Amino acid sequence: MNHVIIGLGAAGRAALTQIHKFEPSSKITVISEEADPFYSRPYIGQMLIDPEVGKADKSVEDNLRHVKDVEFRLSTRATRVDAKGNAVELSDGTKINYNFLLIASGTRFWPQEFGLEGVHTFMLKTRADALRLKRESKDAKAVLVYGGGYQALELSRTFHGLGKKVRWIAPPGFFWPRQLPYITAAQVKEKVDKAGLDLRLDRHVVNVVDLDGRRYLVTDDAGENFECDLILLAPHEVPRLDFLVGSGVHLDRGVIVNEELRTNIPNIFAAGDCAQVHDLNSGQSVINFGWKSATRQGMVAGENMAGHDSVIIPSQDEYVLDLLGKKLVERW
Ligand SMILES: Cc1cc2nc3c(=O)[nH]c(=O)nc-3n(C[C@H](O)[C@H](O)[C@H](O)COP(=O)(O)OP(=O)(O)OC[C@H]3O[C@@H](n4cnc5c(N)ncnc54)[C@H](O)[C@@H]3O)c2cc1C
Repeated sequence: MNHVIIGLGAAGRAALTQIHKFEPSSKITVISEEADPFYSRPYIGQMLIDPEVGKADKSVEDNLRHVKDVEFRLSTRATRVDAKGNAVELSDGTKINYNFLLIASGTRFWPQEFGLEGVHTFMLKTRADALRLKRESKDAKAVLVYGGGYQALELSRTFHGLGKKVRWIAPPGFFWPRQLPYITAAQVKEKVDKAGLDLRLDRHVVNVVDLDGRRYLVTDDAGENFECDLILLAPHEVPRLDFLVGSGVHLDRGVIVNEELRTNIPNIFAAGDCAQVHDLNSGQSVINFGWKSATRQGMVAGENMAGHDSVIIPSQDEYVLDLLGKKLVERW
């Protein structure tokens, strides 16, 4: 069999391991647009604080070394899926055929919602982002975090831990989305206040002046100014689906899959943050963001690509809850 996996995050890696376990002689090709081999995404914020974390990632990478005969096409993007021809077109102009395809492309941020085009901003999604931020933030004294959710919390925690002055501005509806279970906005606010973070709730940034190519004067809609060296964005995330448009794979908010993680096209599966999964219990179709959930989905998809009939029941317990093995507000 010839298996192709798009994405080498939690879901892609888990699928790879399961396929290899059940079909050791099958050919597996993994396509990842990132230059880095597998790493643990939830740790990239911590990489900025603790140099030991990068070393821990090395052992994660070592874990994949036993998986022989896998072709890793790193720094390569899937640009189009030709479902009729069982082929994926790649950014290097080549085409790759498959018997079974897994879409494990995760999410992308949507910074356009902030209307800050032209302003020099940063986000934290990849290991490369973390390395860039580490370099750029070395001399920074004050940092603005603009947005909400676990990303804003994580960015605030990281830069607070680095001894920077942090202001978090959360536009209306952004601070703590209701779908993050078990922890209420009030609990997060209490934690943020206790940590001494400067939180401005329900405000928009209305103007950013580049003072000298290094510092920025940010004005919010309450007329308050904040001078900072770095502007970090924590926008909403949306599943990465661009390369599937026109493929015939059914899309909604994410890639629509049944409880076996199979799409409407029987030899194409999807798992992880990009997948919108049929929940047998509720009858609804849900996206569960989170490392644990993506891993479990990747395992189930990998098993089914290798001929099993495993089923997933999405669980809110696996939603982005534990960060680095600790509950969100217990990490500081
Ligand atoms: C800073 C940070 C901290 C986090 N902390 C936690 C945490 O503590 N706990 C938790 O549960 N979750 C956490 N998350 C979320 C967690 O990392 C994700 O839920 C998880 O990585 C999803 O796994 P995935 O495999 O679905 O997608 P991803 O890990 O996003 O991997 C998808 C991969 O596919 C690649 N890709 C996308 N499109 C293409 C294409 N067309 N061609 C080739 N490659 C492509 C992407 O570049 C990416 O490498 C955190 C995320 C971030 C950014």
